[in-house]
Amino acid sequence: VGVMYAEVRRPCRVMILVNPNSGRCQTMQLFTGHVQGMLTEASVPYTLVITEAKNHARDVVKKADLTQWDALVIMSGDGLLFEVINGLMEREDWEQAIQTPIGILPGGSGNALAASVHHYSQAPPAWNEELLLSCGFMLCKGLVGAMDLVSVHLPSRKRLFSFLSIAWGFVADVDIESEKYRHVGGIRFLMGTLVRLATLRVYQGRLAFLPVDETSNVPKGKSNSTSPPPSMCSSLPCRHIPSSPNQNSVLRCSSRNQNTISKSTETQSDGQTKVLLSDSLLPSLDQPVPESWTVVKDEDFVLVLAIYQSHLAEDLLAVPGAMVDDGAIHLFYVTAGISRPALLRLFLAMEKGAHLDCGCPYLVYEKVKAFRLEPLSPQGVITVDGETVEYGPVQAQVHPGIARLICG
Ligand code: ADP
Ligand code: MG
Repeated sequence: VGVMYAEVRRPCRVMILVNPNSGRCQTMQLFTGHVQGMLTEASVPYTLVITEAKNHARDVVKKADLTQWDALVIMSGDGLLFEVINGLMEREDWEQAIQTPIGILPGGSGNALAASVHHYSQAPPAWNEELLLSCGFMLCKGLVGAMDLVSVHLPSRKRLFSFLSIAWGFVADVDIESEKYRHVGGIRFLMGTLVRLATLRVYQGRLAFLPVDETSNVPKGKSNSTSPPPSMCSSLPCRHIPSSPNQNSVLRCSSRNQNTISKSTETQSDGQTKVLLSDSLLPSLDQPVPESWTVVKDEDFVLVLAIYQSHLAEDLLAVPGAMVDDGAIHLFYVTAGISRPALLRLFLAMEKGAHLDCGCPYLVYEKVKAFRLEPLSPQGVITVDGETVEYGPVQAQVHPGIARLICG
């Protein structure tokens, strides 16, 4: 059985978190102009929470009584969703909390998840207001499916949860440097790419990964494949489950990857034990990677990009065949030696998802469950979901289908 969708309960109570300063600072106007009427028409009761600063949304969802909400919707860029997911995972009741359906309405300059959700629905590509309308429509329909999350270990032993990407080198630098062009919207990435190309550099580091076991029932994908696996919504049954009063405020759904979540316990300073999500594939960062992992021979990179949605930005289709719960991290790297024109060609081809068809010998694609990246360059930028994190060795593993996303 493939993915099954559940519906958000009707009438459902939706908390919409809006970042008024994301993108071109027009999020509120976009909301009142395009979304409000749609929600009223569809009789979706909602409460607006307008964020006041960074981490406001994180604190709100950390403290919220989630039995009062059937969905948490983010109207911003990917950065605000990153906060919300980490806020949910920091809760004592994370296992339940992360089951709250999450929706996305593009309001930022980096709207990769919104573009991905739209792509999974198999609709023709859309941008700007059209993408917003599509996501608003999906919210009104309220179909919910499972979404993979990736746990990320940072040098300080801190752990984060990620729904989109981990980047180092060219992509991370462009992402951060282009923040200053945020007011121009999504085109900031193209501007940033052109600027960075002029100062193209090599990043030294070590990369190792655990490949997806292609003998398992996960859809197959091979390196440099030109034929993507089937998209999520094409062949899968769509099941509407009626609401029952003794259920939690939202309905269950299942996924092709509904694994048993592996957990461990930790004794806290107050003597209480806390149940944690355990990263069973990852050794400690100071230990060598297991024998079963592949160690990349190259140590000179132009970029390393791990992505687990189809889109890296509204107009960058990184993994045409990615699915929201395919249980895989799509790992790309470009090794040193690539020319500026060849790198530009890759990014231009990515607008149509055709970069793997360029036959570029410097671009490698691997489908993995876990990876480790150890930068050797003393300084640099690593981003998780487009946000800068501590620089240094990082590792990550996928947790198939542990979150739930309004999509389809
Ligand atoms: P964009 O795509 O424009 O970058 P994001 O959603 O990624 O939009 O938000 C950018 C950053 O702004 C995030 O790090 C988020 O935490 C932060 N943020 C959230 N609310 C506010 C606010 N009210 N004012 C300023 N920054 C905020
Ligand atoms: Mg952002």
